[in-house]
Amino acid sequence: MRLAKLRKKSKATKPAAEAAPKRAAKNGKPAQEPFWRTKSLKEMSKEEWESLCDGCARCCTVKFEDTDTGLVEFTDVACRQLDTKSCRCKNYAKRKTLVPDCIALTVRMIGKLHWLPSTCAYRLIDEGKDLYWWHPLVSGDPNTVHKAGISVRNKVVSEDDVEDAEKRIIRWIK
Ligand code: SF4
Ligand code: SF4
Repeated sequence: MRLAKLRKKSKATKPAAEAAPKRAAKNGKPAQEPFWRTKSLKEMSKEEWESLCDGCARCCTVKFEDTDTGLVEFTDVACRQLDTKSCRCKNYAKRKTLVPDCIALTVRMIGKLHWLPSTCAYRLIDEGKDLYWWHPLVSGDPNTVHKAGISVRNKVVSEDDVEDAEKRIIRWIK
């Protein structure tokens, strides 16, 4: 999964809550439950945990935290290691070395990272919600997260090309 960069500022917004969709049944029998509906984050295997990341890269954007309230605002400025066209980290294996404030998510962290996007699969599962239709695990297509407009692909600029990220606060990530 991806991580994030968080900077200090004096304003921010609250993440929005989202509802879980209902499940379908086939031939009168309940469909087999996928792992994210039957397991807690703690119970997931390493492969299951990794597959939960939808590849949106919303968490790879620069964020500012209100120093008084702790609330967070997102920008359309991405970490310099993010390939803004493919929406993937250019050097995932060495990300912690290249970007010291890059965070490797763990089960313990999830509930404490209040700035995680409301659409983040880890956050949704931790809050007892379901994944959205566009999540690659649900759709079976890694591109639906882009087609649905959830990912930051082609919507962000690299921090290398921006002078003042604080002037680039956006509302489409909550
Ligand atoms: S699903 Fe969560 S961890 Fe994965 S890229 Fe999106 S915001 Fe980041
Ligand atoms: S180093 Fe890679 S994974 Fe970490 S914030 Fe930057 S782009 Fe995202």
